[in-house]
Amino acid sequence: MSANGWEPVVGLEIHVQLKTRTKMFCRCENVWGEEPNTRTCPVCLAHPGTLPVPNRTAVEWTLKLGVALGCEIAPRALFHRKNYFYPDLPKGYQISQYDVPLASEGRFVVPGPDGDREIGIVRAHLEEDAAKTVHVGGTAGRIHGAEHSLVDFNRGGTPLVEIVTQPDIRSGEEARRFLQLLRQTVVELGISDAEMEKGSLRCDANVSVRKAGEGGFRTKTELKNMNSFKFVADGIAAEVERQVGVYESGGEVVQQTLHFDPARGTIAPLRSKEEAHDYRYFPEPDLVPVEPSAEQVAAARESVGELPGARIRRLEQELDFDLAYGLVTSGRDELFARVPGDRRAVANVLMNQLAAAGTDPAAVNGEELGKLIAARERIPRQAFLDALAASGNGDFRADRYLAEETVSDAAALDPVIDRILAANAEQVEAYRGGKAGLLGFFVGQVMKETQGKADARAVNERLREKLGN
Ligand code: ZN
Ligand code: MN
Repeated sequence: MSANGWEPVVGLEIHVQLKTRTKMFCRCENVWGEEPNTRTCPVCLAHPGTLPVPNRTAVEWTLKLGVALGCEIAPRALFHRKNYFYPDLPKGYQISQYDVPLASEGRFVVPGPDGDREIGIVRAHLEEDAAKTVHVGGTAGRIHGAEHSLVDFNRGGTPLVEIVTQPDIRSGEEARRFLQLLRQTVVELGISDAEMEKGSLRCDANVSVRKAGEGGFRTKTELKNMNSFKFVADGIAAEVERQVGVYESGGEVVQQTLHFDPARGTIAPLRSKEEAHDYRYFPEPDLVPVEPSAEQVAAARESVGELPGARIRRLEQELDFDLAYGLVTSGRDELFARVPGDRRAVANVLMNQLAAAGTDPAAVNGEELGKLIAARERIPRQAFLDALAASGNGDFRADRYLAEETVSDAAALDPVIDRILAANAEQVEAYRGGKAGLLGFFVGQVMKETQGKADARAVNERLREKLGN
């Protein structure tokens, strides 16, 4: 619930790019980041007389995702032509699904700090992606003000699953959580890299607001192309605030497509390529209906393990919500289960120092990491960080690092501290004059000088003592 009794009403439309080896209806390689127009053929360039052949793996992966989203699987689904004209769509239509999608009527549980929320899934259908238009000149790669545009057909005809939710989401924050859980789910199913920055996970949001207790829906706007989880949360929050402002000043919300500028936090209308959504859908005459076999559906059901949301709830019993949520949505909970030791300490190291070290969690030996974490207060900080960075190597052993010791006795620290204080007379003056924050500066200098081997607590103590007079 937002301020003044206004309730946000949000539905998401998500596109997930499947990482099948080949495209949706031809045998071209499905890859990202290659030289433009080097992964094309007569089918995906829409030469006359060519015929599409559906990618079996893409169909089977859509079934898996449908199962994970709690959907009904259609015994007989159809492909339709969605007609519109645009330079990145050489056929003049996109092959998509319309009234009989592969998966529909699902629900996906999103855990939050205040309990579970169940988000309805309208549908999950399979379609092909358009090619990529690159606008040259102008600002930020947008069509407005561009000098000319180029089309890269490598992406044309690659498989996409489009997921549409019910308008069940009640805040930008909840939308972010839904999307992060969905992302983790498709990554674990092994069907997509789902990286928002690369466009393999894309999200649009339909946003409206209504008074608490009000039935029905008010006019909605559509927020397009938000390419990070944070932008999704911030963009929706900003649009909700804007709409509430419009109503409270006696105005009316106008139905339109909007763009959220994350740098400035502002929302502006988007020049849309087609505002009138009349796509003249009709069944694709070149393709027979898709009828998943009983074996295919059973295999899909079997391949879906415990979902991320359920694992968060399980982990929450031993950790708090944020840590449990962080571990699962960053794919670190599997390692967490393999590392012995104090649960909270292990979780914190995995989420902070190990993540910062960029170590692949799947490559880490849990037993060895457990030894290291147990000793983290005793060994030099630098040795601990070095060990974390090395912990993903196959032959990693903690022993070498555990043998390192911190320097904590005054006889060893004092000469170093004295030298640093003498060399920074100005800062010493400032500290004594009341700039207490400079203590961190001195600690840092000592750590640098001792190559991270000094015991932080001892250094703090000695410094305070020496600076105190
Ligand atoms: Zn092709
Ligand atoms: Mn679509």
